[in-house]
Amino acid sequence: MNGEETARSRARQYKAGCIFVSKPTPSYTTLKRFVKCVISLAVFAVTAVWAFLIRLVGGAPRGSCIVLYYHSIPEDQRQRFAKQLDVLLRYATPTALSGDVELRTGVHLAAVTFDDGFQNVYENAMPELKKRQIPVVMFVIADAFGKAFGPLGHSEKVMSLDQLQSLPEELVTIGSHTLTHPMLSTLSEDEARQEIGGSRTKLESTLNRKIRLFSFPFGCFNEQLVELCKEAGYSRVFTTLPKCAFAEPSEFAVGRVRVDPTDWPVEFRLKLNGSYRWLPVAFQFKRFIVSGWLVRTVLGIFKRPPQEVEPRSAIQESRSR
Ligand SMILES: [Zn+2]
Repeated sequence: MNGEETARSRARQYKAGCIFVSKPTPSYTTLKRFVKCVISLAVFAVTAVWAFLIRLVGGAPRGSCIVLYYHSIPEDQRQRFAKQLDVLLRYATPTALSGDVELRTGVHLAAVTFDDGFQNVYENAMPELKKRQIPVVMFVIADAFGKAFGPLGHSEKVMSLDQLQSLPEELVTIGSHTLTHPMLSTLSEDEARQEIGGSRTKLESTLNRKIRLFSFPFGCFNEQLVELCKEAGYSRVFTTLPKCAFAEPSEFAVGRVRVDPTDWPVEFRLKLNGSYRWLPVAFQFKRFIVSGWLVRTVLGIFKRPPQEVEPRSAIQESRSR
């Protein structure tokens, strides 16, 4: 893909409401994480002061909920994952997403979800979750059971159908993550409908469980795709926009915050608390800049007068001919 095509592809993805996934250098990634962490610390501080003031006048802060999402839990990260679960139990109340979620004054809820259904989640995450009785939602790819999935050279094994069926129903809700994990916004309407609705039908018949929840591959969604999910009969869909969940009780498209076992402790604590909720605003601002309005305006101010303009007399001449 050449530079122009890449730029076009990015523009298309921004247009579709996707989060563009690039491959930055490790030092850039660390710097980005650090900056996000600092801004989130400021959000955390403001929120804490606000809650203190509310309590001071005899009130209680509003209830809140954050939905976390993980992907892979390799064996060497199991202990870090377990520590994160302990932090979750200390600072939040775990909640399931299978039914309605009601926010309670002064209570911070947290829900745990996994995308892609990797085998190492079955092996390393599930025992820790069972030990602590933390409910989870597993978003699985209906055509990928037992297969390798992921980018070339970094693929991981997806759990088998037997493993998925053995997960305890009282603790694990299964959701759909499409049939083949495509970038839905690049498909035709019929193809997207098949990925969204077809995966639900297939999972229900294979697992003999009701499938009511859906998560978008790559976090890529737009209004049309949300409508297709409603049409397919899902009761709720999950994005990767890191905002607080259930600000409205009837919320259909629910935001989630990405977490990894490798997150710094302070980073995880801030994500759990909802302090990364400023990010969607930053994404919108970025999209606004990328859309070109600001760039065109700035360039317009500093634009040099055109150098090669046809002389007026020549234009008049050519018109008169
Ligand atoms: Zn995925």
